Amino acid sequence: MARIGILTCSNCTQESNCASVVCLGDMRKRRGFFERYPKEEPLDLIGIINCAGCPTLVAPEKIFRRVHAVTEFKLDALHFSFCMTALCPFLAQYQKVISAEYPTLEIVPGTHRPIEKSKFQEGVKELLCPTICRPQTMNDSIRGTLKLPEPQDRR
Ligand code: SF4
Ligand code: SF4
Repeated sequence: MARIGILTCSNCTQESNCASVVCLGDMRKRRGFFERYPKEEPLDLIGIINCAGCPTLVAPEKIFRRVHAVTEFKLDALHFSFCMTALCPFLAQYQKVISAEYPTLEIVPGTHRPIEKSKFQEGVKELLCPTICRPQTMNDSIRGTLKLPEPQDRR
């Protein structure tokens, strides 16, 4: 039985409310990057963690704040979620520091069946920076309450 963890991109799970349903569905059905585990063998999902956020150019080790939460419970493999592999500019640094800290831990570069990356990236961009309908902010609420004029810059 393999003991696995999943590391997701916070822009998808925290900012865009993904509950990792597609990752978990493909894990149950042994599809995508879970095909590597035999269907007849139980797969133990130890935990799902999300990235601790931008590590800047100097601190990829920031990811350990989250990774330790699952490695403490004996892990065979850590899957980088599909969204991480499609979006994260720090993927190589994360792989490097995690592998150095945990030489026996296998890093698997994906979870669910891959979606066309450019389409996925376009969709995430629209979620994070919507162009169709500008999200309301606290400024809008305060302005409405105080009946202040609309700002000129509506971006
Ligand atoms: S890989 Fe897909 S389903 Fe999994 S956490 Fe990311 S966006 Fe959600
Ligand atoms: S550092 Fe990478 S994985 Fe973490 S939130 Fe940013 S893009 Fe996502």
